[in-house]
Amino acid sequence: MTEQFNPAADRLVSQNSEFAESFSDANMGAAPSMRLAIVACMDVRVNVLELLGLQNGEAHILRNAGGVITDDVIRSLCLSQRLLGTQEIILLHHTDCGLQKVNESEFKADLESEHGFAPSWPLGGFDDPYTDTAQSIQRLVDNVFVETNFLRGFVYDVTDGRIKEVAQAQTSE
Ligand code: ZN
Repeated sequence: MTEQFNPAADRLVSQNSEFAESFSDANMGAAPSMRLAIVACMDVRVNVLELLGLQNGEAHILRNAGGVITDDVIRSLCLSQRLLGTQEIILLHHTDCGLQKVNESEFKADLESEHGFAPSWPLGGFDDPYTDTAQSIQRLVDNVFVETNFLRGFVYDVTDGRIKEVAQAQTSE
């Protein structure tokens, strides 16, 4: 059952030529016009611009597996705020995320047996997207490099297209 894989790059290069024929964004500034940055999962079902009614140019969209607040997300948000003037942050996680289905220790054990050592980065697996979003909010709030005066978190339901807001985690003792 070996199916031939056809890389997309050649087709994309020709699609870009078509795009450039009618290019009209030459005057768009680099700063997001809504002063907004969104951190979202890379899942293909999460069409960030479309599901929030956004246009290109209005927000920075940072994506990774799970929409996890990694050091690199902190780095990008820090630059986004300090160099490009964003003030508001929205976290966008979703139901049925791949990171709910992966066992971190097994995943790392597999890599270790293949490569001789395991990666130092955490995978960021979780059980519940709502709890995970609340924890991500907290992780940002606890970070000194990113301003969080305007920070909200949502979970996108991939079965009905709706977002649900997640309250910030209560500080529990
Ligand atoms: Zn996901």
